[in-house]
Amino acid sequence: MENSVWQDDVLVIGGGTAGFGAAVAAGRLGLDVCLIEATGKVGGVMAFCPGMPWGAAFPDDRIIGGILEELAGRLFAMVPPAAEKRPCALENFGPEILYDHDLATLVMFEMLEEAGVRVHLHTMALAPHMEGRRVAAVDLCDRHGVRRIAARMVIDCSGDGDIAARAGVPYTLGDEAGRLMGVTLSFHMLGADWARVFAGGDPYFTRHAARGIAQGRLHPDLAQLYLMKGFHRDTVFCNSVVIRDVDGTDAAAVAAATQEGRRRCRQLAGFLRSDVPGFEAARMAFLGPSVGVRETRKLEGMYRVTGADLAAATKFEDGIVCCDNPIDDVMRGAAMTHAAMVGQGEYYTIPFRSLVPRGIGNLMFAGRLICADPVAFASVRGMPQCMAMGQAVGTAAALALRRGVAVQDVDRGVLVAALQEQGVRGLGGVPL
Ligand SMILES: Cc1cc2nc3c(=O)[nH]c(=O)nc-3n(C[C@H](O)[C@H](O)[C@H](O)COP(=O)(O)OP(=O)(O)OC[C@H]3O[C@@H](n4cnc5c(N)ncnc54)[C@H](O)[C@@H]3O)c2cc1C
Repeated sequence: MENSVWQDDVLVIGGGTAGFGAAVAAGRLGLDVCLIEATGKVGGVMAFCPGMPWGAAFPDDRIIGGILEELAGRLFAMVPPAAEKRPCALENFGPEILYDHDLATLVMFEMLEEAGVRVHLHTMALAPHMEGRRVAAVDLCDRHGVRRIAARMVIDCSGDGDIAARAGVPYTLGDEAGRLMGVTLSFHMLGADWARVFAGGDPYFTRHAARGIAQGRLHPDLAQLYLMKGFHRDTVFCNSVVIRDVDGTDAAAVAAATQEGRRRCRQLAGFLRSDVPGFEAARMAFLGPSVGVRETRKLEGMYRVTGADLAAATKFEDGIVCCDNPIDDVMRGAAMTHAAMVGQGEYYTIPFRSLVPRGIGNLMFAGRLICADPVAFASVRGMPQCMAMGQAVGTAAALALRRGVAVQDVDRGVLVAALQEQGVRGLGGVPL
């Protein structure tokens, strides 16, 4: 077993949308950044569910800005365009961005390269080494064995927060009853006739779903078949096969849910071909390599965002990104809900303090492990917001290291001003 030591300014754990945002932001500010990702690709849920739209990018129909805007802009500008803004077919959701998955992944890797980020794929963070109130180093594992990385700042964007939890950050799992949102295996249908598939106008295809369930041909949890136009013409993206009660921190449970998901996706694809007009000649493709996990740990931060905060359209003084997503609570209970979080034309911001632990001076977190109550979490978790949370903590890392202060003592006014300079919109009392 090799046990070499690397040194970096910033270690970002997890290459999902949050980790991508954190690494690019910190690298652009001149820091030596190492991003480690357990799988072979950046994207996180975006990679597990290829083609998943970037939702909530346009609160009140205006883009949130920052790294998300830049990434989307590069894709919009390609010939032919590799992304498109489209209205969402579901109630209370604003417009979203559909994109070519492979080109989006390519551009994300390019942005990491340009920012000088050292990307280590197939590398898993295992355990922190603490020195008082600091994470002094983190042990990682890749095919060469276990190595140690000593970073001045650690940013946990792993979705599940293994390292932050092991460093002693308290956390909760799921809602008050410990129920977690369902996990989903997604796929596409290629060669579907859009005009006929979407002629009915019901995004959930409930009539067909009810028939399939009554005849025992579809799983009872498929009462709402959410089918949407994929980015490429005559492709249909299916984000419907939800498996309940899966602990996303348990690798064996995730593997079992993925295999069960494959069976249900195959069954659904067959049903669409035989029963839903427009799918007769279509075939299943781009089945996710693993279920996408919506919810595991929520870490305890300096501030816990609540549903009441967000419903009041609160614009926090240390708000780092705008959002107006509804409460998208996928099967913690009986069914999905999409109740509006804020009124028409309103939005809230997510505070920086919900990404900062109380007790550790050189650790932050971003993305779906944000400190939020179950209602707030069901709204804040969109990929654009996760990317912006990452951008905020990556920027805060530079501020903390430059001034030699703990993350709790970062000047939040200076942080907000820095994010505004980076093009993040709707912060610091300035309307979106
Ligand atoms: C099925 C599903 C549908 C969704 N639909 C939408 C939608 O339509 N629009 C939208 O905007 N959002 C949607 N979301 C929400 C959104 O995708 C997630 O909230 C967001 O992607 C979370 O990003 P993240 O970077 O925080 O975490 P993740 O995307 O989970 O990324 C975490 C990364 O960390 C890596 N990792 C974990 N542990 C370690 C470790 N110890 N060491 C190294 N790497 C590690 C993982 O491999 C992963 O790549 C959906 C989520 C799911 C699951």
